[in-house]
Parts: sequence; C-alpha cells; structure tokens
Amino acid sequence: MPTSDVRRGPAAGDALQPATNARAFAAGRALRQGAKVLPEHARGHNRALVLQTLFHQGAMSRADLSRETGLTRVTISDLVAELIADGFVAEIGVREASGPGKPAILVDLDRAGHRIVGIDLSGSDTFIGAVLTLDGDIVVRREVPVPAAEQLVGTVVDLARALVSDAHAPVLGVGVGTPGVVDDHGVILTAPNFGWAGFDLQGALRDALGLPVLVANDANAAVLAEYTFGGAPDDVLLVKVGRGVGSGLLAAGQPMRGSRFAAGEIGHVTVGTDGGPRCACGKVGCLEAWLSAPSLSSRLAGTSSAAEREGILRDAGERLGIALAPVVGALDVSEIVLSGPHELLGGSLTDQTVETLRARTLAPSNDDEGVRVRMTTQGQDIVLRGAAVMVLSGQLGVS
Ligand SMILES: [Zn+2]
Repeated sequence: MPTSDVRRGPAAGDALQPATNARAFAAGRALRQGAKVLPEHARGHNRALVLQTLFHQGAMSRADLSRETGLTRVTISDLVAELIADGFVAEIGVREASGPGKPAILVDLDRAGHRIVGIDLSGSDTFIGAVLTLDGDIVVRREVPVPAAEQLVGTVVDLARALVSDAHAPVLGVGVGTPGVVDDHGVILTAPNFGWAGFDLQGALRDALGLPVLVANDANAAVLAEYTFGGAPDDVLLVKVGRGVGSGLLAAGQPMRGSRFAAGEIGHVTVGTDGGPRCACGKVGCLEAWLSAPSLSSRLAGTSSAAEREGILRDAGERLGIALAPVVGALDVSEIVLSGPHELLGGSLTDQTVETLRARTLAPSNDDEGVRVRMTTQGQDIVLRGAAVMVLSGQLGVS
C-alpha cells in the first residue's frame, strides 16, 4: 500500500471513496465520482471495486464478481489472485451445484484475517478503544481515564498497543476520532480541551505504533459509521451531542471538510436573539451552550414538573431546528441523525426539531415528508465504528 494511501484520512473530501453499499450498489456507479480514472490508477481502482463489492454483498464466485463489477473474467482472476496473496480475500468453499458442471468456488473478504483498532477520544471521563472486525463488530473493548494534558499521547499509544496485542490477527490500521478541528493529514489544528494546536497526532501515533493511523474529528468519524453500517443516505448530517455539540456532513456520499477543515462545527452558532447561557467559547447563546449534554442535564435537574421538563426539551429541540434549517435549505440533506444520550435527545427534543425544520424550510411535496430526523442506530460505539470505516476506506478503499 503506498504511503500516500496510508496517510490519507476520510476527513479529506477526496480521500474517502464515495461509498456504495448493498442497497445502493449499482453497476456503473463510479467509486470516485468526478475524478477521471487514469490508467496508472486503474488497478487500484479495480482492486477497491472488488473489495467494495465483496464487503457489501458477501461471498460470490469470480463469475459473479465479474458481472457485479463489469470487469472482465481475466481481470477479476488476476485481482482475486493478488488479493488472496495479500491476505485480504479467501476462497471459502464451493456453491452447491444446481446443475451439471463444476461447482463454483466462492471468494469473500477474509473477514477473520485482519482486525482494526478504533479509538474514541470524545468521552468526558474516559478514552475508549476497541478491536473491531472488518464488519465493524467489536470483539475487545478497553477504557482508560482521560489523563492529564502532558500524558495524553502516551496514554493513547499505550491504549492502542494493548488493543493491537488483543487483536490476535494482523491489524489493518488504527482509526482515531477526536474532538477538535482536524486536517486531512490528521493534524489537530485546534482542540481546546486537550490544549492541542497544530499538533500532528496522526504522525505521532504512527511513529510510535509502526502501523497506519488515521485521525479525524469525532463527528466526522461518526457520520461514516452511520453511512457504512447504519444505512444513512448519501446526503446526511449527523449531529453529535456530548460534552460539546458538533456535526459531520456527507454530500453526495463525500465527507465535507470545508475551507479550514471545520465543516460541521455548528456548536458555536448563536441561536435566537434572546441571549442565553454563556458558552465556553466566551459568547452567549451558542447552540452548544443550550444543547450540550451537561447543559441540558443541569437545566433538567432544576425542574420540578414533567411540563417544565418538556418545555426545556422542546426549547432545545427548537433551537437545534433553528440552527439546522439553513443547512437543510442550502444542502438539501435528506436525513439528520442525532447521536448522544437517548433520554435527552430521543423524545420531545427530536419531535420539536422536526416541527421547527418543517416550519422553517421549503414545504416538502406531497410524496415526500421532507427531511427525516432520527436517533442513530450505532449507539455509544458510533465513533469507534466510524474509526474502523476510516481505516477500511484508507487502507482498502472500502466504505
Ligand atoms: Zn460557543
């Protein structure tokens, strides 16, 4: 794998191959939209196409692969032989013969042949790490308390090393989701909570671990998990509510990074003209100051009736809708996915966000209910699973 492929993170707009998943996979849907495939890149492109097809559709014969990818039988035979030699694909038996002739040999991703290490640095109290299968299933999990600032990198390295030794299989790479603004080389441009500014976390971890490492913003990692494992559409916004509020955006199946890698940083947009709580950033009335889990929880703790509680959740939902309406209007996203504490986000808050969005954006047509708002299906492991998608995408071109 060339170094340039190893180093690219999916936070980069052009690094993540536009994913195709089972329900959307169709012949001719280009893996890399909008970019010409040059002859010298064709082999890598075709290799990724084969892996992507097996990743989402499972075991099939070489003839099936040829049909699904539109590549010739000869090309498929070559590519499959190469992928078997590299340990990414395996022959897994034969299909029951349905007629005369030789039964077809089935090939699939060697799903047990490699593992991925995912790390989530977004927790308030703990860093979480996991060993994941290529299908995003967690097989080992570890947690460590968030250390003092000077021990941050050492703690992440130790956590990653422990997980690599737990993996009992070659590790394809290490994906890390972190708070802060992260460029497409995994350099943390700013992460005030950790005191990082212009810090090459990806490089530091790669040098310490001797493995491919990909670092991205936690919400940007999360939206990848929702896309690859949660069935999210190509145009989706994931809002992550925790200690802070951030979001990750896919447009036409491509991660949006913005001009300064800060696309999706909606937490410090002021919502309303009525003041509000003071935010950690110094302003008053930021979305984050209303909606972060600590802020919402402390306001709810001061309530004495169900109606008061309902009022606070409705108010927060309305403010989220106010912040999101121009995004929905400008980008025409079809789905907004919320990730965070279900007891805070799951009920009235989501309902009110939907009502506010409907009131503040173009009325949907008859056969269209407009933008959908729902909770994630990925639970608390969303960043870990997104970190796995970063590695799959960066190392295999699969997403
Ligand atoms: Zn703020």
